Amino acid sequence: MPHLGHIEAGSRHDLRIGLSPDAPPDDEADGDGAFGYAHSYESSSRYDGPGLRLVLFVSGCLLRCAYCHNPDTWHLKDGTYVSAKEVLDRLASFAGALKALDGGLTISGGEPMVQLAFTGRILAGAKRLGLHTAIETSGFLGDKASDEYLANLDLVLLDIKSFDPDTYRRATERDVAPTLRFAERLASMGKPVWVRFTLVPGLTDEPANVEGIARFVAPMKNVEWVEVQPFHQLGAFKWEAMKKRYPLSDTKPPTPDVIERVLGQFRDAGCHAR
Ligand code: SF4
Repeated sequence: MPHLGHIEAGSRHDLRIGLSPDAPPDDEADGDGAFGYAHSYESSSRYDGPGLRLVLFVSGCLLRCAYCHNPDTWHLKDGTYVSAKEVLDRLASFAGALKALDGGLTISGGEPMVQLAFTGRILAGAKRLGLHTAIETSGFLGDKASDEYLANLDLVLLDIKSFDPDTYRRATERDVAPTLRFAERLASMGKPVWVRFTLVPGLTDEPANVEGIARFVAPMKNVEWVEVQPFHQLGAFKWEAMKKRYPLSDTKPPTPDVIERVLGQFRDAGCHAR
């Protein structure tokens, strides 16, 4: 069994690597979920769901987004091995403040669904504390999420990283189909969703690619917001520190004109976009 550590407060921008060298491969995570791998936690407001949020960043992701800000969350072995009980005890100590400020727990990553049993156990515990719950996910592993897992979620922050299959593959090295299937499943359940789209000049900004997401999402009554997230370079130092070739080292953030054009495309299709 890997060495049990303690989850550290910090920020999604902290570089954390090599903390659990005995961890299993990323596609063999889980067990009964009593233990799992986490990067850090921080508090934030509004950005990661409504109200004040405690955001738990867990380890493991099967995508390889060219613009990933947190490549140190890709592998379980880079995270800290922690118990779900410790996470929930800590959450309980914040619960009063989170409820008073209309917030709750958001699990992000990495990809929360790499560790379905671990994150499911934490979400169920958060519901027992009376907290609003959310995950941020690419939806790539959505087929594996049980209805019980989804029942413990009040909101899904669903990253639809592109609509055009070739663009999606270029951006993430994976297929878009599982994400779109998951979006349709959430729509059929009426599960509240905030769709997120990272706008990357020269990669995801083609009008037809944006239009595809807008037309796909607009009829979904459960989608409360489409959030356009302009690409930035805050994660670049992690690629360098981890000696990975960063494909977007020369990419600039989108201009205000491009952001307005993309927001306009979503709004014209009938989405609430911001
Ligand atoms: S899904 Fe998120 S954590 Fe995974 S590679 Fe993409 S941006 Fe990074």
